[in-house]
Amino acid sequence: LDIPSNYDVIIAGAGSFGMSTGYQLAKAGVRVLLIDANDPPHSEGSHHGTTRIVRCAYTMGASYVKLALRAMELWKELENESASIPDSLEHGPRSLYSPIGVISIGPIGSLFIQSKTESCITFGIPHQRITAAELQVIWPGLSIPHTMEGLYESEAGVLYSENIIHLYRELALRHGAELLVHTKVLEIEQTSSGRQLVRTSAGEFTAQKVLVSGGAWSSQLLPELNNIIHPIRKPIAWFEAPQDRYGIGTLPAFIINNGGDEEYFGFPDLDNSGLKIGRHDGGQIVIPGQPIAPFGAFDEDEEELRRALDLFLPGVGGLIQGQTCLYEHSPGERLLLGQVPGRSGVWFAGGGSGHGFKFTSAIGEAMSIALTKGQEHTSLDWHSFTLKGVN
Ligand SMILES: Cc1cc2nc3c(=O)[nH]c(=O)nc-3n(C[C@H](O)[C@H](O)[C@H](O)COP(=O)(O)OP(=O)(O)OC[C@H]3O[C@@H](n4cnc5c(N)ncnc54)[C@H](O)[C@@H]3O)c2cc1C
Repeated sequence: LDIPSNYDVIIAGAGSFGMSTGYQLAKAGVRVLLIDANDPPHSEGSHHGTTRIVRCAYTMGASYVKLALRAMELWKELENESASIPDSLEHGPRSLYSPIGVISIGPIGSLFIQSKTESCITFGIPHQRITAAELQVIWPGLSIPHTMEGLYESEAGVLYSENIIHLYRELALRHGAELLVHTKVLEIEQTSSGRQLVRTSAGEFTAQKVLVSGGAWSSQLLPELNNIIHPIRKPIAWFEAPQDRYGIGTLPAFIINNGGDEEYFGFPDLDNSGLKIGRHDGGQIVIPGQPIAPFGAFDEDEEELRRALDLFLPGVGGLIQGQTCLYEHSPGERLLLGQVPGRSGVWFAGGGSGHGFKFTSAIGEAMSIALTKGQEHTSLDWHSFTLKGVN
């Protein structure tokens, strides 16, 4: 590959946010170089495990709801765009998005249920409040105590995260982006002429602007994020589940918050690989450079998930397989998007904290416009996601 060294934009980390931004930039005719330490999609970051929940009801404020609504429009556009490219996906199913519905379950009247409901009302998002007794009639695989209730979003569903990154990659390359895989970005420095010098394991490149989107490892690229973005090990697992209660059409994707410190998320058995479940809170902080313990290294990896299944989805059977994934945890689980304070020309997109994938399409769009025309040309509420003052 004959790589010139000067670009308009270099993207350091071509995973979810980076690949989506690279696609948008290339489509707009910008000279963009994407650099990734792995070969995306891959299982070394935060986007593997096949599926991600997409929904618009949010507890974190209007800025998140607006971003999710725009993302949903762009997911549908991407689905249409992918249909016109017959050989776009080499591996696996070509699905990008399935509106299988999402049920959020929590204590009656809890902030978890209440603030999601308010966001639905404010933004006209189709939704339904459902009592515990009704939940079990509609989805007989659930067992929900009478102290809890549900909020159902019928237009929400599942995104196939690896398929999406694969497609973004292919589209970005077709639109003229360049991509270096298995290449680590080591350092980003401003030159005396105001350009950005990016040192990598495969040489040096310069660009007018750099977007850092290194996910869980972002603080290795921007040391000022050291106490802001923490990589957290997350076990996820697939369990045997009868199709008549836990299959596609008989159970939506789910989020169950027990009102204390436990929150679980999962998906019905979508493709005979089993019902998938993970725990949103908890997990172990990972030290950069140290190996990540595989699923099952800690007894609680399976025990916690089993406990939730026994309580809320009691017909689910034995473990099929487990994996670990990384959360890129930020303070308050806030998305962090925008210019890096004190570094002119360097931008950041990250902090997805276990809920960021759904926004990927809209983040790519906003970032690409901001990097080329300026933040004021987007409708993103940048102040809600700013890195200024975050610690
Ligand atoms: C178990 C689990 C469940 C989740 N569930 C949901 C969900 O249901 N809904 C939802 O919306 N979100 C969910 N998320 C969150 C979502 O997947 C992430 O927020 C999102 O994928 C983060 O995207 P990213 O671009 O920041 O990171 P990534 O997609 O991991 O991309 C970062 C990229 O940077 C590269 N990189 C790192 N360091 C370097 C370097 N030095 N040089 C070059 N490249 C580098 C990596 O190789 C990687 O490709 C979940 C996450 C996990 C782990």
